[in-house]
Amino acid sequence: MLKVANISKSYGEVLAVDNLSFTVKPGEIFGLLGVNGAGKTTTFRIIMGLLDADQGEVTLNGKKIDYSVTDKIGFLTEERSLLTKLTVKEQCLFYGALKGMTKEKILKRLDELLERFQITEYKDRKIKELSKGNQQKIQFITAILNEPELLILDEPFTGLDPINIELFKKEIIQMAQKGSMIIFSTHRMEHVELFCKKIVVLLRGRPVLEGYISDIKEKYRKKNIFLKADIDKEKIKKIPGVIDVIEKSDELEVKIESSDVVDNVFEVVKKAKNLTKFVVEEPSLNEIFVAKVGEAYDK
Ligand code: ATP
Repeated sequence: MLKVANISKSYGEVLAVDNLSFTVKPGEIFGLLGVNGAGKTTTFRIIMGLLDADQGEVTLNGKKIDYSVTDKIGFLTEERSLLTKLTVKEQCLFYGALKGMTKEKILKRLDELLERFQITEYKDRKIKELSKGNQQKIQFITAILNEPELLILDEPFTGLDPINIELFKKEIIQMAQKGSMIIFSTHRMEHVELFCKKIVVLLRGRPVLEGYISDIKEKYRKKNIFLKADIDKEKIKKIPGVIDVIEKSDELEVKIESSDVVDNVFEVVKKAKNLTKFVVEEPSLNEIFVAKVGEAYDK
C-alpha cells in the first residue's frame, strides 16, 4: 500500500502542498486532480523521493521510498524524460538496466509492449524522429517496462488523440487488475470518472474533495432531472427543493437539492402536455468539482 501521511511543502512563501494524506491499495487507480499550480507535481516529486517534504511521510508497503525500492516504481514525469538521440531499444535497455532488469527480460517485454501499442516498426528508430504521440507511447512503455508495483503518471493523456487515450487506459486498467497501485494526475474530469474509483482534488495544495467517487456523489446529494414537456420553467422553479432550471435546446435541466425532491417535480410535470422525457441523473464529477472549487475560491 502507498501511504501519504500529512505531507506539506513550501517553496519560500508559496505553500505548494498543505497537509495532504491519502492511501492507494494494490489494484487501485487513484486520481490526483487540480487546476494548474494546485500542487500535483510537487506531490509526485515527494512520493518519488525527488523532493523532501517539510512535514509528513510517504511509505510504500510500510517502508520509506528510497533508492532500494526504485525497481518497484515506474513513473511518467510531466517534463518527459526521453533520451531522444537513442533508439527506442537503446533507451529501454538503459532504463530497464537501471531498474535491475536483465537484457533478455527487457527485450522480451519491449517486444510485447511495442506490439500492444502498435509501434513495432519504431524499435530501432531514434526517438527524436518519432511523432509527439509516439514519443509519449515510448515514455509510457519505459515507465511500465518493469511492471511496477507503484506507477505514477503525471498528466499521462496530455497531447494524445482519443484512440491513443483508449490504448493507455486499457493498459492502465490491466496493470491495476494485476495488482499495481496506480496514481495519476489530471485536470480533466472525464478521464477520472471512467476508470478511477478514488480521488483527491487539490486547490492551492489543499484537498477540497476526496475519497471514493461513489461516496462523493452520494454525499453531494444534489441531482439533475432532464425532462421534455410543454411546461413553463418558472412553474418548476417554484417547487421547494428546486435550485435552478436551465433550458437546453429541446429539454429542461432541473437542478434539485436531493432525490427527495424528484416526486414533487414529477407531480407537477406529469400534468404537462407532451411529457416525453423524465430522467434523474447524478451530477458529473466536473459539476461537483466546479461547485466545490468555486466554494473554496469564494472563501
Ligand atoms: P500544473 O498542473 O500546472 O503542472 P501542479 O498542480 O503540478 O501544476 P505544482 O507544479 O506542484 O502544481 O506547483 C504548486 C505550486 O508551487 C505553484 O504555486 C508553483 O508555482 C509552486 N512551485 C512549484 N515548483 C516550484 C519551485 N521549484 N520553486 C518555487 N515555486 C514552485
